[in-house]
Amino acid sequence: MRQSLQAVRGMMDILPDEVEKWRFIEERARNLFRRFGYREIRTPLLEATELFARSIGEATDIVEKEMYTFYDAKGRSISLRPEATASIIRAFIQHQLHTTGDRKFFLLGPMFRHERPQKGRYRQFHQIDVEAFGIQDPMLDAELMFMARSFLDEIGVKEVSLEVNTLGCSVCRPGFRTVLQDYLNANVDHLCPDCVRRIPKNPLRCFDCKVPQCKEALAEAPLLINFLCQKCLSHFESVKSYLEQLSVPYVVNPRMVRGLDYYVRTAFEIVTTHLGAQNAVGGGGRYDGLMKDLGGPDLPGIGFALGIERIMLLMSGYQPSRENDVDVYLVLLGDSARRKGFQIAQELRKKGLSVEMDYDPKSVKSQMRSADRVGATVSVIIGDNELEQSIAQVRFMKEGIQRIYELSDMAAELVDIIKGAK
Ligand SMILES: [Zn+2]
Ligand SMILES: [Zn+2]
Repeated sequence: MRQSLQAVRGMMDILPDEVEKWRFIEERARNLFRRFGYREIRTPLLEATELFARSIGEATDIVEKEMYTFYDAKGRSISLRPEATASIIRAFIQHQLHTTGDRKFFLLGPMFRHERPQKGRYRQFHQIDVEAFGIQDPMLDAELMFMARSFLDEIGVKEVSLEVNTLGCSVCRPGFRTVLQDYLNANVDHLCPDCVRRIPKNPLRCFDCKVPQCKEALAEAPLLINFLCQKCLSHFESVKSYLEQLSVPYVVNPRMVRGLDYYVRTAFEIVTTHLGAQNAVGGGGRYDGLMKDLGGPDLPGIGFALGIERIMLLMSGYQPSRENDVDVYLVLLGDSARRKGFQIAQELRKKGLSVEMDYDPKSVKSQMRSADRVGATVSVIIGDNELEQSIAQVRFMKEGIQRIYELSDMAAELVDIIKGAK
């Protein structure tokens, strides 16, 4: 026998029992974001590799190691999107959406990163991504965090906390970089090879290093929060005060740097201690220069992404809805009854009921078992005798009661009974 085919490593099937939970999350997200003025956008899974190299940054782990990049038949380098921000900005620029007044967007969908698969982390993973352009005020920063928290509350994710930091701007960050580089160079003997490599290009990323030795070496490192320019400082103070006004609990984490190059000022993460070492369920921040860097209008931007797989590990109290249950199961005996039942099925479906039947001829007993197995509300039994009298036996499965209906008005009555009971 041939070896059976498996899904690609790190790519997960979402089976029907799970899909309801996914739809619950997606529908809650759509509903909540709409209340905050966000509109849904969908972009292609594939983009020119250059888009991610220019936005996320050449020297990031994502672009260097984690992207699914390949060449199409014409030799163009394309990549599966590893995140959504760059794609949404690309679409915003390409379609000149700044002329339409649209400025708040969200996207739900799969992203791709070639990482080592582990609990809650997949190579095809799914994000809820939110972006807003053209708004500079720190009020929006606080509102975004409030919205993310509200969303998690609504879907029953409780044990998370919000960490906030500021990453400075093009005025204050370069000065801090030099100070940090000096510190790292002085401690270079204690750093892992990755961190040593990061010093010239991307020294802030050393704060993200998981190697214990590096963590220790950075314990005394200078922090950007102490080197902020006046504007960044006042922006950060305002963000915090708006968060307090909305009663959003948060902690300042001055060591949070986020994985991407483009963030300025506000950065935040939603973390949990329940997922082991991989403790962020989502995060985001401000990226005021990115739109212009990518060839668009000079509009500020801010956004966040939540990982759906990680959120799901933290959801409690979710009860699957029963909307996919079968309303009517047709139990048909004999060729004529099967033919008639085939037609009745379509009529009932047209009237809004979900109807199932055994397509292959089977015994009444076996068909009744199927009706039980799918949890049908009623089974409709038609054999030659019933057909002759134009009637059907309708069995109410839970109650165990059986009644006779005229075929001519059975559909209307079943609709009344089943829809009335819902
Ligand atoms: Zn600054
Ligand atoms: Zn390191």
